[in-house]
Amino acid sequence: MPEDHPYRKTPSVSELRQRRAAEEAVHEAETAARKEALAVVERWNAERSPLWSPTIRCAITAGTPWLDVYCPGCRTSRAIDVRTLDRHPLASVGSLVIGLQCSWCPGNAPMPVLTGLHSLPPAARWSKSMPVEFLHGRPLSAEELEMIRQQIEEGFDNIAEVDAEIRGIVARNWPHLLSKLPPEDD
Ligand SMILES: [Zn+2]
Repeated sequence: MPEDHPYRKTPSVSELRQRRAAEEAVHEAETAARKEALAVVERWNAERSPLWSPTIRCAITAGTPWLDVYCPGCRTSRAIDVRTLDRHPLASVGSLVIGLQCSWCPGNAPMPVLTGLHSLPPAARWSKSMPVEFLHGRPLSAEELEMIRQQIEEGFDNIAEVDAEIRGIVARNWPHLLSKLPPEDD
């Protein structure tokens, strides 16, 4: 019996093989495209170059659609999902900076700084990499936590800033820095 019998209803072995090979080729091409795009994103994340940046399509293909935006004015970071933007997919991520000026900063907000593309929004990244610390009821970003650490290492100008919550954060994250804090008054 020939393999490609015209009245056969179920696909033949060779048809299945062909279909399988085609699916594998698509999968391999997608994997290669993702790897290539991710290499571009990782290079930009490392360089943070203002001279070039990946395209929106590249960021999406790489699986890293979350763009970190830092405002030097109020020193806050936020993340935007480039998949939600109504922009041409071949527009560079860097070109988005013009529309991303901080709305919290009064008057003329400084130009924001794009600090990287990531696969997850910040909250999900923090909870994966470290337990989230709260200060005065607000979750601290990795950058804010780092800022506190630096302030303690350099020595607080304002001793009143060190309250029980900050003391707790220091004890949990950098116990070696506890000695840098002013003595507890009770
Ligand atoms: Zn701002």
